[in-house]
Amino acid sequence: MFSRILIANRGEIALRIIRACRELGIESVAVYSEADRDAEYLKLADDSICIGPASAAQSYLNIPRIISAAEIADVEAIHPGYGFLAENAHFAEICQECGIVFIGPSAESMRLLGDKVAAREMARKARVPVVPGSAGQVKDEAEAVKIANKIGYPVIVKASAGGGGRGMRVAHNDISLHSAFAAARAEAEAAFNNGEMYLEKFVVQPRHVEVQIMADKAGNAVHFYERDCTIQRRHQKLIEESPSPFLDERTREELCRSALRVIKHANYFSAATVEFLLDADKNYYFIEVNTRIQVEHPVTEMVTGHDLIKLQLKVAAGQPLGFRQKDITHTGCSLECRINAEDPARNYAPCPGTITKFIPPGGMGVRVDTHVYQDAKVSPYYDSMISKLIVHRPTREEAIETMKRALHEFRIEPIKTTIPACIDILSHNLYVKGKVDTGFIERHMG
Ligand code: ADP
Repeated sequence: MFSRILIANRGEIALRIIRACRELGIESVAVYSEADRDAEYLKLADDSICIGPASAAQSYLNIPRIISAAEIADVEAIHPGYGFLAENAHFAEICQECGIVFIGPSAESMRLLGDKVAAREMARKARVPVVPGSAGQVKDEAEAVKIANKIGYPVIVKASAGGGGRGMRVAHNDISLHSAFAAARAEAEAAFNNGEMYLEKFVVQPRHVEVQIMADKAGNAVHFYERDCTIQRRHQKLIEESPSPFLDERTREELCRSALRVIKHANYFSAATVEFLLDADKNYYFIEVNTRIQVEHPVTEMVTGHDLIKLQLKVAAGQPLGFRQKDITHTGCSLECRINAEDPARNYAPCPGTITKFIPPGGMGVRVDTHVYQDAKVSPYYDSMISKLIVHRPTREEAIETMKRALHEFRIEPIKTTIPACIDILSHNLYVKGKVDTGFIERHMG
Protein backbone atom coordinates (compact mmCIF):
# COMPACT_ATOMS: atom_id res chain seq x y z
CA MET A 1 0.00 0.00 0.00
CA PHE A 2 1.10 3.62 -0.48
CA SER A 3 2.65 5.41 2.46
CA ARG A 4 2.03 8.99 1.22
CA ILE A 5 -0.29 10.45 -1.41
CA LEU A 6 -1.27 13.88 -2.70
CA ILE A 7 -4.89 14.95 -3.10
CA ALA A 8 -5.34 17.11 -6.20
CA ASN A 9 -8.71 18.52 -5.22
CA ARG A 10 -10.52 20.60 -2.63
CA GLY A 11 -13.64 20.71 -0.48
CA GLU A 12 -15.64 17.75 0.68
CA ILE A 13 -14.00 15.19 -1.59
CA ALA A 14 -10.52 16.23 -0.42
CA LEU A 15 -11.69 15.69 3.17
CA ARG A 16 -13.32 12.37 2.22
CA ILE A 17 -9.99 11.16 0.82
CA ILE A 18 -8.03 12.46 3.83
CA ARG A 19 -10.34 10.40 6.07
CA ALA A 20 -9.83 7.21 4.06
CA CYS A 21 -6.05 7.75 4.12
CA ARG A 22 -6.03 8.28 7.88
CA GLU A 23 -7.87 5.00 8.45
CA LEU A 24 -5.49 3.15 6.14
CA GLY A 25 -2.37 4.64 7.75
CA ILE A 26 -1.50 6.56 4.57
CA GLU A 27 -0.10 10.08 4.94
CA SER A 28 -2.09 12.61 2.92
CA VAL A 29 -0.84 15.85 1.43
CA ALA A 30 -3.51 18.42 0.53
CA VAL A 31 -3.06 21.20 -2.00
CA TYR A 32 -4.93 24.49 -1.80
CA SER A 33 -5.42 27.73 -3.66
CA GLU A 34 -5.09 31.09 -1.96
CA ALA A 35 -8.91 31.22 -1.70
CA ASP A 36 -8.88 28.00 0.35
CA ARG A 37 -5.95 28.98 2.58
CA ASP A 38 -8.06 29.00 5.78
CA ALA A 39 -10.02 25.80 5.08
CA GLU A 40 -10.15 23.72 8.26
CA TYR A 41 -9.89 20.36 6.50
CA LEU A 42 -6.34 21.22 5.46
CA LYS A 43 -5.32 20.75 9.10
CA LEU A 44 -6.50 17.16 8.99
CA ALA A 45 -4.04 16.30 6.21
CA ASP A 46 -0.46 15.46 7.18
CA ASP A 47 0.83 18.30 5.03
CA SER A 48 -0.57 21.00 2.78
CA ILE A 49 0.91 23.01 -0.06
CA CYS A 50 -0.34 26.22 -1.69
CA ILE A 51 -0.49 25.80 -5.46
CA GLY A 52 -1.56 29.24 -6.62
CA PRO A 53 -4.26 31.88 -6.82
CA ALA A 54 -8.01 31.32 -6.52
CA SER A 55 -8.71 30.79 -10.22
CA ALA A 56 -8.90 27.04 -10.86
CA ALA A 57 -6.91 27.43 -14.08
CA GLN A 58 -4.01 28.67 -12.00
CA SER A 59 -4.37 26.18 -9.15
CA TYR A 60 -6.50 23.01 -9.12
CA LEU A 61 -6.34 22.67 -12.92
CA ASN A 62 -2.70 23.65 -13.22
CA ILE A 63 -0.82 20.44 -14.00
CA PRO A 64 2.78 21.75 -13.62
CA ARG A 65 1.97 23.20 -10.20
CA ILE A 66 0.31 20.02 -8.99
CA ILE A 67 3.15 17.85 -10.23
CA SER A 68 5.68 20.19 -8.56
CA ALA A 69 3.74 19.93 -5.31
CA ALA A 70 3.76 16.13 -5.61
CA GLU A 71 7.50 16.13 -6.16
CA ILE A 72 8.19 18.51 -3.28
CA ALA A 73 5.92 16.47 -1.02
CA ASP A 74 7.60 13.28 -2.20
CA VAL A 75 4.37 11.29 -2.66
CA GLU A 76 3.92 7.96 -4.40
CA ALA A 77 0.49 8.66 -5.84
CA ILE A 78 -2.10 11.35 -6.61
CA HIS A 79 -5.84 11.08 -5.98
CA PRO A 80 -7.69 13.46 -8.31
CA GLY A 81 -11.14 13.27 -6.62
CA TYR A 82 -13.92 14.29 -9.05
CA GLY A 83 -14.06 17.31 -11.35
CA PHE A 84 -10.87 19.32 -12.01
CA LEU A 85 -8.26 16.86 -13.41
CA ALA A 86 -10.07 13.62 -12.55
CA GLU A 87 -10.92 12.79 -16.17
CA ASN A 88 -7.92 14.39 -17.83
CA ALA A 89 -6.02 11.60 -19.60
CA HIS A 90 -3.09 13.92 -20.28
CA PHE A 91 -2.70 14.49 -16.53
CA ALA A 92 -2.79 10.72 -15.88
CA GLU A 93 -0.05 10.29 -18.50
CA ILE A 94 2.13 12.98 -16.96
CA CYS A 95 1.77 11.37 -13.53
CA GLN A 96 2.96 8.11 -15.05
CA GLU A 97 5.92 9.78 -16.79
CA CYS A 98 6.92 11.29 -13.44
CA GLY A 99 6.76 7.93 -11.71
CA ILE A 100 3.68 8.89 -9.70
CA VAL A 101 0.69 6.54 -9.57
CA PHE A 102 -2.54 8.15 -10.76
CA ILE A 103 -5.32 6.87 -8.50
CA GLY A 104 -7.75 6.10 -11.27
CA PRO A 105 -7.77 4.17 -14.55
CA SER A 106 -5.00 4.08 -17.15
CA ALA A 107 -4.75 7.14 -19.39
CA GLU A 108 -5.62 4.85 -22.29
CA SER A 109 -8.93 3.58 -20.94
CA MET A 110 -9.81 7.05 -19.67
CA ARG A 111 -9.29 8.44 -23.13
CA LEU A 112 -11.32 5.67 -24.72
CA LEU A 113 -14.30 5.83 -22.35
CA GLY A 114 -14.11 9.59 -21.88
CA ASP A 115 -14.88 10.03 -25.56
CA LYS A 116 -18.64 9.46 -25.57
CA VAL A 117 -18.74 8.44 -29.22
CA ALA A 118 -16.03 5.81 -28.67
CA ALA A 119 -17.73 4.67 -25.46
CA ARG A 120 -21.03 4.15 -27.32
CA GLU A 121 -19.17 2.02 -29.83
CA MET A 122 -17.57 0.04 -26.99
CA ALA A 123 -20.99 -0.54 -25.41
CA ARG A 124 -22.41 -1.73 -28.73
CA LYS A 125 -19.53 -4.19 -29.09
CA ALA A 126 -20.22 -5.43 -25.57
CA ARG A 127 -23.83 -6.14 -26.66
CA VAL A 128 -25.26 -3.42 -24.44
CA PRO A 129 -28.16 -1.35 -25.82
CA VAL A 130 -27.28 2.26 -26.60
CA VAL A 131 -29.71 5.12 -27.27
CA PRO A 132 -30.49 5.07 -31.02
CA GLY A 133 -28.46 7.77 -32.73
CA SER A 134 -25.60 8.58 -35.05
CA ALA A 135 -23.10 5.80 -35.76
CA GLY A 136 -20.20 8.09 -34.93
CA GLN A 137 -19.63 11.81 -34.85
CA VAL A 138 -21.83 14.13 -36.89
CA LYS A 139 -19.87 16.62 -38.95
CA ASP A 140 -22.43 19.38 -39.54
CA GLU A 141 -26.06 20.55 -39.33
CA ALA A 142 -27.01 18.98 -42.68
CA GLU A 143 -25.83 15.54 -41.59
CA ALA A 144 -27.58 15.99 -38.22
CA VAL A 145 -30.89 16.74 -39.99
CA LYS A 146 -30.50 13.65 -42.16
CA ILE A 147 -29.92 11.39 -39.15
CA ALA A 148 -32.69 13.05 -37.10
CA ASN A 149 -35.18 12.36 -39.89
CA LYS A 150 -34.13 8.73 -39.86
CA ILE A 151 -34.37 8.17 -36.09
CA GLY A 152 -37.26 10.60 -35.56
CA TYR A 153 -37.65 13.69 -33.40
CA PRO A 154 -37.10 14.73 -30.65
CA VAL A 155 -33.31 14.33 -30.71
CA ILE A 156 -30.50 15.50 -28.46
CA VAL A 157 -27.24 16.91 -29.80
CA LYS A 158 -24.34 15.99 -27.50
CA ALA A 159 -20.63 16.75 -27.31
CA SER A 160 -18.23 13.80 -27.49
CA ALA A 161 -16.15 15.38 -24.77
CA GLY A 162 -19.19 16.57 -22.81
CA GLY A 163 -19.66 16.59 -19.07
CA GLY A 164 -21.57 18.44 -16.38
CA GLY A 165 -24.58 18.80 -18.66
CA ARG A 166 -22.73 21.12 -21.05
CA GLY A 167 -22.63 20.86 -24.83
CA MET A 168 -26.10 19.32 -24.96
CA ARG A 169 -29.29 20.61 -26.71
CA VAL A 170 -32.66 19.09 -27.49
CA ALA A 171 -34.32 19.68 -30.88
CA HIS A 172 -37.89 18.94 -31.97
CA ASN A 173 -37.69 19.69 -35.69
CA ASP A 174 -35.30 20.49 -38.54
CA ILE A 175 -35.34 24.22 -37.82
CA SER A 176 -34.59 23.94 -34.11
CA LEU A 177 -31.95 21.30 -34.83
CA HIS A 178 -29.93 23.82 -36.85
CA SER A 179 -29.72 26.25 -33.95
CA ALA A 180 -29.35 23.48 -31.33
CA PHE A 181 -26.41 22.00 -33.22
CA ALA A 182 -24.62 25.34 -33.53
CA ALA A 183 -25.25 26.28 -29.90
CA ALA A 184 -24.16 22.91 -28.51
CA ARG A 185 -21.02 22.90 -30.64
CA ALA A 186 -20.08 26.45 -29.60
CA GLU A 187 -20.59 25.52 -25.94
CA ALA A 188 -18.52 22.35 -26.32
CA GLU A 189 -15.71 24.20 -28.07
CA ALA A 190 -15.60 26.80 -25.31
CA ALA A 191 -15.87 24.31 -22.43
CA PHE A 192 -13.86 21.34 -23.71
CA ASN A 193 -11.86 22.77 -26.56
CA ASN A 194 -13.44 20.05 -28.68
CA GLY A 195 -16.35 20.56 -31.06
CA GLU A 196 -16.93 16.90 -31.93
CA MET A 197 -20.70 16.26 -31.78
CA TYR A 198 -23.04 13.28 -32.00
CA LEU A 199 -26.75 12.73 -32.01
CA GLU A 200 -29.07 10.62 -29.87
CA LYS A 201 -32.79 10.10 -29.88
CA PHE A 202 -34.17 12.10 -26.97
CA VAL A 203 -35.61 9.52 -24.60
CA VAL A 204 -38.93 10.96 -23.45
CA GLN A 205 -39.34 11.31 -19.68
CA PRO A 206 -36.51 8.94 -18.81
CA ARG A 207 -35.04 7.83 -15.51
CA HIS A 208 -31.30 8.06 -14.95
CA VAL A 209 -29.91 4.89 -13.36
CA GLU A 210 -26.20 4.19 -13.05
CA VAL A 211 -24.10 1.24 -11.91
CA GLN A 212 -21.04 1.50 -9.67
CA ILE A 213 -18.11 -0.65 -10.74
CA MET A 214 -14.73 -1.36 -9.20
CA ALA A 215 -12.04 -3.32 -11.04
CA ASP A 216 -8.51 -4.29 -10.06
CA LYS A 217 -5.38 -4.50 -12.20
CA ALA A 218 -5.58 -8.29 -12.35
CA GLY A 219 -8.83 -8.15 -14.33
CA ASN A 220 -11.33 -8.75 -11.51
CA ALA A 221 -14.35 -6.50 -11.82
CA VAL A 222 -17.44 -6.28 -9.65
CA HIS A 223 -20.51 -4.06 -9.51
CA PHE A 224 -22.00 -2.48 -6.41
CA TYR A 225 -25.54 -2.27 -7.75
CA GLU A 226 -27.23 0.89 -8.93
CA ARG A 227 -27.96 4.47 -8.01
CA ASP A 228 -31.03 6.30 -9.24
CA CYS A 229 -30.15 9.90 -10.12
CA THR A 230 -33.38 10.88 -11.83
CA ILE A 231 -33.92 14.01 -9.73
CA GLN A 232 -31.95 16.51 -11.78
CA ARG A 233 -32.09 20.19 -12.57
CA ARG A 234 -30.82 21.12 -16.02
CA HIS A 235 -29.20 17.68 -16.36
CA GLN A 236 -27.38 18.14 -13.03
CA LYS A 237 -28.14 15.68 -10.23
CA LEU A 238 -29.69 16.97 -7.02
CA ILE A 239 -30.99 13.89 -5.14
CA GLU A 240 -29.67 10.36 -5.57
CA GLU A 241 -30.77 7.07 -4.11
CA SER A 242 -30.02 3.39 -3.97
CA PRO A 243 -31.68 1.07 -4.77
CA SER A 244 -33.68 2.54 -7.64
CA PRO A 245 -37.40 2.38 -6.77
CA PHE A 246 -38.08 1.84 -10.48
CA LEU A 247 -36.23 -1.43 -11.08
CA ASP A 248 -37.49 -4.95 -10.67
CA GLU A 249 -34.98 -7.67 -9.77
CA ARG A 250 -34.64 -8.91 -13.33
CA THR A 251 -33.95 -5.50 -14.83
CA ARG A 252 -31.53 -4.70 -11.99
CA GLU A 253 -29.58 -7.88 -12.64
CA GLU A 254 -29.45 -7.26 -16.40
CA LEU A 255 -28.43 -3.64 -15.98
CA CYS A 256 -25.59 -4.49 -13.60
CA ARG A 257 -24.33 -7.27 -15.85
CA SER A 258 -24.45 -4.95 -18.87
CA ALA A 259 -22.40 -2.34 -17.01
CA LEU A 260 -19.80 -4.97 -16.13
CA ARG A 261 -19.61 -6.10 -19.75
CA VAL A 262 -18.75 -2.56 -20.91
CA ILE A 263 -16.02 -2.24 -18.29
CA LYS A 264 -14.52 -5.64 -19.01
CA HIS A 265 -14.51 -4.88 -22.72
CA ALA A 266 -12.39 -1.81 -22.03
CA ASN A 267 -9.81 -3.68 -19.88
CA TYR A 268 -10.54 -1.14 -17.22
CA PHE A 269 -9.30 -0.86 -13.64
CA SER A 270 -10.29 1.47 -10.75
CA ALA A 271 -13.72 2.94 -9.99
CA ALA A 272 -16.18 3.63 -12.79
CA THR A 273 -19.82 4.46 -13.18
CA VAL A 274 -21.77 3.21 -16.16
CA GLU A 275 -24.77 5.47 -16.80
CA PHE A 276 -28.05 4.45 -18.40
CA LEU A 277 -31.38 6.00 -19.25
CA LEU A 278 -34.53 3.94 -18.78
CA ASP A 279 -37.77 4.59 -20.60
CA ALA A 280 -41.24 4.08 -19.14
CA ASP A 281 -41.21 0.41 -20.26
CA LYS A 282 -37.95 -0.23 -18.38
CA ASN A 283 -35.94 -0.54 -21.58
CA TYR A 284 -32.47 0.63 -20.69
CA TYR A 285 -29.92 2.40 -22.87
CA PHE A 286 -26.25 3.06 -22.17
CA ILE A 287 -25.31 6.77 -22.24
CA GLU A 288 -21.78 7.10 -20.87
CA VAL A 289 -19.06 5.94 -18.49
CA ASN A 290 -17.60 8.19 -15.81
CA THR A 291 -14.01 7.15 -15.16
CA ARG A 292 -13.74 8.53 -11.63
CA ILE A 293 -15.33 8.43 -8.21
CA GLN A 294 -18.68 10.22 -8.32
CA VAL A 295 -20.19 12.82 -6.00
CA GLU A 296 -22.99 10.38 -5.17
CA HIS A 297 -20.76 7.43 -4.21
CA PRO A 298 -21.85 7.52 -0.52
CA VAL A 299 -25.31 6.07 -1.22
CA THR A 300 -23.61 2.98 -2.61
CA GLU A 301 -21.29 2.83 0.40
CA MET A 302 -24.27 2.96 2.76
CA VAL A 303 -26.26 0.14 1.13
CA THR A 304 -23.30 -2.15 0.44
CA GLY A 305 -21.05 -1.34 3.42
CA HIS A 306 -17.97 -0.98 1.18
CA ASP A 307 -15.68 2.06 1.39
CA LEU A 308 -15.16 2.96 -2.28
CA ILE A 309 -12.31 5.41 -1.71
CA LYS A 310 -10.35 2.79 0.23
CA LEU A 311 -10.98 0.31 -2.56
CA GLN A 312 -9.76 2.84 -5.13
CA LEU A 313 -6.53 3.28 -3.14
CA LYS A 314 -6.14 -0.46 -2.78
CA VAL A 315 -6.47 -1.29 -6.48
CA ALA A 316 -4.28 1.69 -7.49
CA ALA A 317 -1.57 0.20 -5.26
CA GLY A 318 -1.86 -3.01 -7.29
CA GLN A 319 -3.71 -5.07 -4.69
CA PRO A 320 -6.49 -7.44 -5.76
CA LEU A 321 -10.09 -6.62 -4.83
CA GLY A 322 -10.05 -9.59 -2.49
CA PHE A 323 -13.73 -10.47 -2.83
CA ARG A 324 -16.19 -11.60 -5.46
CA GLN A 325 -19.50 -10.46 -6.82
CA LYS A 326 -21.44 -12.81 -4.58
CA ASP A 327 -19.84 -11.17 -1.52
CA ILE A 328 -21.51 -7.85 -2.34
CA THR A 329 -25.01 -7.45 -1.00
CA HIS A 330 -27.21 -4.43 -0.46
CA THR A 331 -29.46 -3.64 2.45
CA GLY A 332 -31.99 -0.92 3.08
CA CYS A 333 -32.33 2.35 1.23
CA SER A 334 -29.95 5.28 1.07
CA LEU A 335 -30.69 8.82 -0.15
CA GLU A 336 -28.33 11.72 -0.76
CA CYS A 337 -29.26 15.40 -1.09
CA ARG A 338 -26.76 17.82 -2.55
CA ILE A 339 -26.71 20.96 -0.44
CA ASN A 340 -25.58 23.68 -2.83
CA ALA A 341 -24.99 27.33 -1.97
CA GLU A 342 -27.71 28.38 -4.41
CA ASP A 343 -31.01 30.17 -4.01
CA PRO A 344 -33.88 27.99 -5.32
CA ALA A 345 -36.18 31.03 -5.11
CA ARG A 346 -33.94 32.96 -7.52
CA ASN A 347 -33.55 30.31 -10.17
CA TYR A 348 -30.74 28.60 -8.24
CA ALA A 349 -28.41 31.61 -8.43
CA PRO A 350 -25.08 30.92 -6.66
CA CYS A 351 -24.93 32.29 -3.10
CA PRO A 352 -21.34 32.60 -1.97
CA GLY A 353 -20.51 34.29 1.34
CA THR A 354 -19.55 33.65 4.95
CA ILE A 355 -21.52 31.09 6.92
CA THR A 356 -22.28 32.54 10.36
CA LYS A 357 -24.42 29.69 11.63
CA PHE A 358 -23.79 26.04 10.81
CA ILE A 359 -25.61 23.29 12.68
CA PRO A 360 -25.48 19.93 10.88
CA PRO A 361 -28.12 17.30 11.57
CA GLY A 362 -27.42 14.02 13.33
CA GLY A 363 -29.21 11.03 14.75
CA MET A 364 -29.73 7.51 13.57
CA GLY A 365 -28.90 6.77 9.97
CA VAL A 366 -27.56 10.26 9.11
CA ARG A 367 -24.20 11.01 7.44
CA VAL A 368 -22.97 14.49 6.58
CA ASP A 369 -20.03 14.82 4.17
CA THR A 370 -18.93 18.43 4.21
CA HIS A 371 -15.88 20.66 4.46
CA VAL A 372 -17.74 23.74 5.73
CA TYR A 373 -18.40 24.90 9.29
CA GLN A 374 -19.36 28.04 11.18
CA ASP A 375 -17.30 31.04 9.91
CA ALA A 376 -16.30 29.19 6.72
CA LYS A 377 -16.31 31.24 3.54
CA VAL A 378 -18.10 29.81 0.52
CA SER A 379 -15.95 30.88 -2.40
CA PRO A 380 -17.47 32.15 -5.65
CA TYR A 381 -14.61 30.53 -7.55
CA TYR A 382 -15.65 26.90 -7.30
CA ASP A 383 -18.58 24.51 -7.49
CA SER A 384 -21.45 25.58 -5.27
CA MET A 385 -21.87 22.21 -3.51
CA ILE A 386 -21.04 22.72 0.17
CA SER A 387 -22.39 19.55 1.72
CA LYS A 388 -23.88 16.16 1.03
CA LEU A 389 -26.54 14.89 3.38
CA ILE A 390 -26.90 11.13 3.27
CA VAL A 391 -29.31 8.85 5.12
CA HIS A 392 -29.56 5.08 5.31
CA ARG A 393 -32.68 3.37 6.66
CA PRO A 394 -34.26 -0.07 6.28
CA THR A 395 -36.96 1.09 3.85
CA ARG A 396 -37.43 3.92 1.34
CA GLU A 397 -40.35 5.32 3.34
CA GLU A 398 -38.20 5.56 6.46
CA ALA A 399 -35.28 7.01 4.48
CA ILE A 400 -37.51 9.78 3.11
CA GLU A 401 -38.82 10.61 6.60
CA THR A 402 -35.32 10.64 8.10
CA MET A 403 -34.03 12.81 5.25
CA LYS A 404 -36.85 15.33 5.66
CA ARG A 405 -36.23 15.44 9.42
CA ALA A 406 -32.48 15.93 8.87
CA LEU A 407 -33.03 18.64 6.24
CA HIS A 408 -35.28 20.51 8.69
CA GLU A 409 -32.56 20.27 11.37
CA PHE A 410 -29.78 21.48 9.07
CA ARG A 411 -29.10 25.17 9.76
CA ILE A 412 -26.87 27.06 7.34
CA GLU A 413 -27.11 30.86 7.64
CA PRO A 414 -27.22 33.45 6.16
CA ILE A 415 -26.48 32.05 2.70
CA LYS A 416 -29.27 30.40 0.74
CA THR A 417 -29.06 26.69 -0.04
CA THR A 418 -30.93 23.94 -1.86
CA ILE A 419 -32.30 22.61 1.47
CA PRO A 420 -35.85 24.00 0.94
CA ALA A 421 -35.94 22.66 -2.63
CA CYS A 422 -34.92 19.19 -1.40
CA ILE A 423 -37.66 19.27 1.27
CA ASP A 424 -40.26 20.21 -1.36
CA ILE A 425 -39.17 17.40 -3.66
CA LEU A 426 -39.15 14.78 -0.89
CA SER A 427 -42.63 15.92 0.15
CA HIS A 428 -44.11 15.63 -3.34
CA ASN A 429 -46.42 12.64 -3.71
CA LEU A 430 -44.97 11.69 -7.12
CA TYR A 431 -41.48 11.50 -5.60
CA VAL A 432 -42.78 9.48 -2.65
CA LYS A 433 -44.44 7.07 -5.10
CA GLY A 434 -41.22 6.85 -7.11
CA LYS A 435 -43.04 8.18 -10.19
CA VAL A 436 -40.56 10.76 -11.46
CA ASP A 437 -38.44 11.35 -14.53
CA THR A 438 -35.50 13.64 -15.28
CA GLY A 439 -37.88 16.54 -16.07
CA PHE A 440 -39.62 16.37 -12.66
CA ILE A 441 -38.04 19.52 -11.16
CA GLU A 442 -38.65 21.66 -14.24
CA ARG A 443 -42.27 20.47 -14.48
CA HIS A 444 -43.34 20.33 -10.83
CA MET A 445 -41.06 22.59 -8.86
CA GLY A 446 -41.80 25.89 -10.59
P1 ADP B 1 -23.00 14.74 -18.90
O1 ADP B 1 -21.78 13.90 -19.14
O2 ADP B 1 -22.86 16.16 -19.37
O3 ADP B 1 -23.52 14.64 -17.49
P2 ADP B 1 -24.86 12.71 -19.85
O4 ADP B 1 -24.69 12.09 -21.17
O5 ADP B 1 -24.43 11.92 -18.65
O6 ADP B 1 -24.13 14.14 -19.84
O7 ADP B 1 -26.36 13.15 -19.63
C1 ADP B 1 -26.77 13.91 -18.51
C2 ADP B 1 -28.27 13.93 -18.43
O8 ADP B 1 -28.84 14.48 -19.62
C3 ADP B 1 -28.93 12.57 -18.29
O9 ADP B 1 -28.96 12.10 -16.97
C4 ADP B 1 -30.32 12.87 -18.82
O10 ADP B 1 -31.10 13.55 -17.86
C5 ADP B 1 -30.04 13.81 -19.97
N1 ADP B 1 -29.86 13.07 -21.24
C6 ADP B 1 -28.71 12.71 -21.83
N2 ADP B 1 -28.93 12.01 -22.97
C7 ADP B 1 -30.26 11.94 -23.12
C8 ADP B 1 -31.14 11.33 -24.10
N3 ADP B 1 -30.68 10.68 -25.16
N4 ADP B 1 -32.47 11.43 -23.88
C9 ADP B 1 -32.99 12.09 -22.81
N5 ADP B 1 -32.22 12.68 -21.88
C10 ADP B 1 -30.88 12.61 -22.02
